[in-house]
Amino acid sequence: MRLLKYFLGVVVVLSAIWVWAARSDRYPDRYLLVADHVWSPGLIDADAVLVDNGEIVSVGRAAELDTDGAVPRLEFPGKTVLPGLVEPHTHPIASALLGAVVDVSGFNHQSRAEVMQSLTEAAGETALTPWLVAFGWDPVKIADIEPPTLAELDAISPDRPMLILTQMLHEAYANSAAQKAAGLPLSHGAVLRELDEVNAATSAIPPPAPEVVEMLLRQQYQAYARAGFTTIGITGAVGRHADPVGLLRKVGQDSSAPLRTYLYLTDEQAGDVGLHDPAQDRFAILGTKLWVDGSPFTGGAAIAMPYEDTHLVRERLGLAHDHSGPDLGDPESFADKIVELHAAGHQIALHVQGERAVDWGLNGFARAQELYPNPDLHHRLEHNALITQAQMTRAVDLSVSLGFFVDHITYYGHRLPELFGPDRAGRYMPAGAAQQAGAVVTLHGDHPATPLGPLLTLKTAVTRLGPDGAVLSPEQALSVEDALTAMTRNAAIQLGQGGRFGEIAPGQRADFTIFSGNPIETPPDQLDQLGVDRTIIDGQPADLRPLWLSRPGLMLRVAASVVF
Ligand SMILES: [Zn+2]
Repeated sequence: MRLLKYFLGVVVVLSAIWVWAARSDRYPDRYLLVADHVWSPGLIDADAVLVDNGEIVSVGRAAELDTDGAVPRLEFPGKTVLPGLVEPHTHPIASALLGAVVDVSGFNHQSRAEVMQSLTEAAGETALTPWLVAFGWDPVKIADIEPPTLAELDAISPDRPMLILTQMLHEAYANSAAQKAAGLPLSHGAVLRELDEVNAATSAIPPPAPEVVEMLLRQQYQAYARAGFTTIGITGAVGRHADPVGLLRKVGQDSSAPLRTYLYLTDEQAGDVGLHDPAQDRFAILGTKLWVDGSPFTGGAAIAMPYEDTHLVRERLGLAHDHSGPDLGDPESFADKIVELHAAGHQIALHVQGERAVDWGLNGFARAQELYPNPDLHHRLEHNALITQAQMTRAVDLSVSLGFFVDHITYYGHRLPELFGPDRAGRYMPAGAAQQAGAVVTLHGDHPATPLGPLLTLKTAVTRLGPDGAVLSPEQALSVEDALTAMTRNAAIQLGQGGRFGEIAPGQRADFTIFSGNPIETPPDQLDQLGVDRTIIDGQPADLRPLWLSRPGLMLRVAASVVF
């Protein structure tokens, strides 16, 4: 009897601790947010925001907004409040899954020896998964990284299948066990150069249990919020899951989701999933993502003039002399595809890097608007590495927004002249010229292509600093204000949400990102040293509690799937 009492006592105490720990911190419905500064596009001299029921009521000086001191205050001394950052182009499921594999990236490795060391260490650890998968092998960023031989990989992992994906996900290296499991002939060493072979190898990896993918995705959502984002645009629901759209809807629609989610389907998904009203809740499907060309760092950019004739291009990337990217195929059927999606009301986001790819996109958009005029449908061009001045002018005329992947400069700026020569490197990711041309300019990180880091993106957009400390075409730099506008108001406009969030203005949703200091007064080359204190969505702090507190049911199912 005494033992039972003792046991019940322990249960009661543990339950109380769990209930206490699991409660989410809530702000009052109506409060005054007060910091050293409040920044929003065009806003002058503010230090406070009045919030009511998830909406911004007014912004200005604290003393004027709350004259009698009756409203509860949330004070952030020394900090700066900005509109919640919006990442308009990212891939959360792929980021979540690749975040869980062995990192061999050029972001964290300086040499081939360091990469091989990481692989060897990972192979020596207790195997929790049937395959050893690594991601981030980077033939452009790491100077001495010649491809691995089959003998090297078999020595590291003789029996367990091992697959190494490159940073651009275009090629892979596999040991003998992996190639056997994928049904590939062991005739060409370790490298899998054809996309078919890479796909055969990745499809042979036993799929992770759906609850594990959901757990990793929810953790990835929290990682975006910690990095400072309150909204993401998903350009193609890609990732290994039976129903990626359904999973993103489930996680994104959740009332406790720390982010708003705006989704673009892939071509294959576009037929069977309908669009839904973008103004309703935290999740909406906006349209379709299409790829016109590939990555500049694999020879995939459809450029007007060939790649340079250099060691990097010839030996490392294995490209032929006079290579100018892929043959894009038939322009008529591509334009027909755009017209069809446009007529169905889909906003289209097009992956374009080279000038030829940009032309295809603009021609398609022009044809679509001519046949089915729809001034409310603003399409998007993504990345735009080598878009020309004339193409940017045409994009503005067609009211097409331009998203730039300036982190190519952050990580690969020093290698661009070897790929494209000094002139083209000088107009690479021309955000400054696009701003001058009057385009809606946005910035993105395209994770997992680069690590999450909006403040580094901000720094590069403003400084154009490459990894070697050299500045690439300073005339293409944005002012801090313009870069922050690109990451807030413009990105919201690009997602069709202008006026709803993206600014700190009356009537907009109360989405905020709180920086540790004032970006306007920070020396540009130190912008990435600022911290993100927290994010607020619909007036409440983003829910970043550990999943075992906020989602105990999911975590039990994960545990069961691992055990049984
Ligand atoms: Zn992408």
